[in-house]
Amino acid sequence: MRENPDVPAPFPGVDALASPPRPRTWPDPALLAAPIGGPKRRLEGLHAMGLHTRSDLLEALPFRFEDLRRVRPIAEAILAGDADVTVIGRVGAIRERPTRRRGLRILQTTLSDETGSVSLTWFNQRHLARTLEPGARLVARGTLKRGAHGVDLAVRSHELLDGPGDEESAAGGLVPVYHASARVSTAVLRGLVDDALRDVGDRIPDPVPVDLRVRHRLPLRRDAITAGHRPRRQGEQRTARRRLAYEELLLLQLALLLHRDAIDQRAGAVPLGPPGGLSERFRAGLPFALTAAQERALAAIDRDLDRDRPMQRLLEGDVGSGKTVVAFAALVRAVEHGGQAALMAPTEVLALQHLRGAERLLEPLGIEVAYLSGDVPERERRVRRARIEAGEPLVAIGTHALLHTDFPRLEVLVVDEQHRFGVAQRARLAAGAGAAPHVLHMTATPIPRSLALTAFGDLDLTVIDELPPGRQPVRTSVVPEAKRADGYAWIVEQVRVGRQAYVVCPLVEESAEVEARAAEEEAARLAAGPLAQVRVACAHGQQPAAERQRVMAAFAAGEIDVLVATTVIEVGVDVPNATVMVVEDADRFGLAQLHQLRGRVGRGAEQSYCLLYASAEPTPEGAQRLDALVRHRSGFELAEIDLAMRGEGRLLGVAQSGASDLRHARLNSDRRLLERAREDAARLVREGPDDVVRAAAEARFGELIAALRRA
Ligand code: ADP
Ligand code: MG
Repeated sequence: MRENPDVPAPFPGVDALASPPRPRTWPDPALLAAPIGGPKRRLEGLHAMGLHTRSDLLEALPFRFEDLRRVRPIAEAILAGDADVTVIGRVGAIRERPTRRRGLRILQTTLSDETGSVSLTWFNQRHLARTLEPGARLVARGTLKRGAHGVDLAVRSHELLDGPGDEESAAGGLVPVYHASARVSTAVLRGLVDDALRDVGDRIPDPVPVDLRVRHRLPLRRDAITAGHRPRRQGEQRTARRRLAYEELLLLQLALLLHRDAIDQRAGAVPLGPPGGLSERFRAGLPFALTAAQERALAAIDRDLDRDRPMQRLLEGDVGSGKTVVAFAALVRAVEHGGQAALMAPTEVLALQHLRGAERLLEPLGIEVAYLSGDVPERERRVRRARIEAGEPLVAIGTHALLHTDFPRLEVLVVDEQHRFGVAQRARLAAGAGAAPHVLHMTATPIPRSLALTAFGDLDLTVIDELPPGRQPVRTSVVPEAKRADGYAWIVEQVRVGRQAYVVCPLVEESAEVEARAAEEEAARLAAGPLAQVRVACAHGQQPAAERQRVMAAFAAGEIDVLVATTVIEVGVDVPNATVMVVEDADRFGLAQLHQLRGRVGRGAEQSYCLLYASAEPTPEGAQRLDALVRHRSGFELAEIDLAMRGEGRLLGVAQSGASDLRHARLNSDRRLLERAREDAARLVREGPDDVVRAAAEARFGELIAALRRA
């Protein structure tokens, strides 16, 4: 019978409002937080696997089950000749030998029951060689093949059944298989879990408020934990996992929203009042009409700015979707109100680009713009700082240098490419003023909504999901090495008709110096050979900032045709006349990075091209990334693919750190559950969560959130 995963298996008590009394504290020290005991060596092994308490043990659900209900006597299995058989027996003599291929070892034994025997073969299972003993009871699943000396079972999966509780564990016909290690076998884990279930199984308390649990038809926590380890019916373990995933997402969202609430309560923000004449003039002065998505984003921001609660909004938009003008509109609102605004960019290149934008769009309105970066001469910096510290209404634009300035009247803060800034740094800029500023975080690294809601779940989310009209998709192709010369010919052709091109050099992970040198050599090679007819220059992170800025400005002004660069141009650089992007060793870049690079072209009305040169031996994943890039245009689609390719990933991966994260929920497949948990958590926060669910959220995610904030 095929099962529909959306229909939960029947569970006792999913509709029951009558629940066991909720605990008063969380976690209950006697029940869940009790440390695991046992021999020292085993304990060390358990700790290495992150298992410290009884609760850890109970939450570490098996990753698969060996299905004993399909077991057949060996003789019968041989007679039936089925493709897929499951048999149980005792292990015979074990032989291990190397093969002719270096490093490959073969492990052979027999498996016998009362009716017959088969021979078993494994390749390269050192770990198994150490744990398998003659006489052990083993369940094995695989394909039978008639060999020279009898019948062989090519083993697909197997499980030792020698643990103390294995008979009990298998009562439902499903033997749980746990993530084991060399020091702690899955049989040991089965025994420990059985003990824990026997000791506290029916007393495991439930932090999820009863009405939510009943609304979503989820079993009690104690039933979910028990069924997750020892399902008695088909599908039970799935319902159990879903229940635990919901709880996990609810607690995470709750922890994030409570954290946000705590920040909001520390300091209120100044409400800016409705947009006035200056805002109108800004809008009227734009050389284009805003897209509907930009209008929506702006409306959301305008509403935020009216409140006395500080805006904490993440503005996500695909590369080239036009986030900058939206941010500028927010800056204008602050100045219009007589306050100060700041726009902080992660690099000098980007900060300068924003400065040029501000000179075009803000200064004509009479708005003072103060640029601050490490490269501004000290004397000039002091003058600008003094204006800022005097509380003059103005727009400050810059890099981290802004962090060393006090803004007495900072009302709007925009942080561009926010994932590049530590949150601690953001907090620092925000702390100078009396009232908290309204903060808009922008990112052009499209993050799947599911990931955004988790990693940045304390921010409100606005997505610009539309490109300005008239943009043509960038034609993307993987260029075989044999056609390299054609690629250069194409660049020359494009330059002839007035366009410009980027050539991005391979990533060199070992050192930025080597990478920079390689870029310079490549620029010299191209200038001397294939691109001799056009103007070539080089930009990389090791140049003195002034030199790099000079090159970037010359490129922006059209005085350079081809810019050979490292990934300094990855984020945000905006030269609409550039129509060709060449990426060398493209398969070695991440998908998000490739998308960013491609986003440097296709910013004007002209047809643009992205030529991907693969490295000599791309990995299968690398080739897959290039393929995805050729086939997909949307950064959000690519981000989804990236998420799927990298597995569920770690929440903190986004924030570039590395603590642990979700145990049960999967960002890819549990999206609806996540949205529900998000809504439920928001309601709980509005209505005031009770102490138990609050403490459970803190216990489960307090540390993670603290780490996110530090990242
Ligand atoms: P990103 O979202 O990647 O930061 P930008 O804000 O740099 O994108 O905008 C990309 C380009 O599109 C810029 O040259 C900008 O002037 C232009 N642009 C922005 N909004 C519009 C619009 N509504 N119509 C036409 N062009 C626009
Ligand atoms: Mg940008």
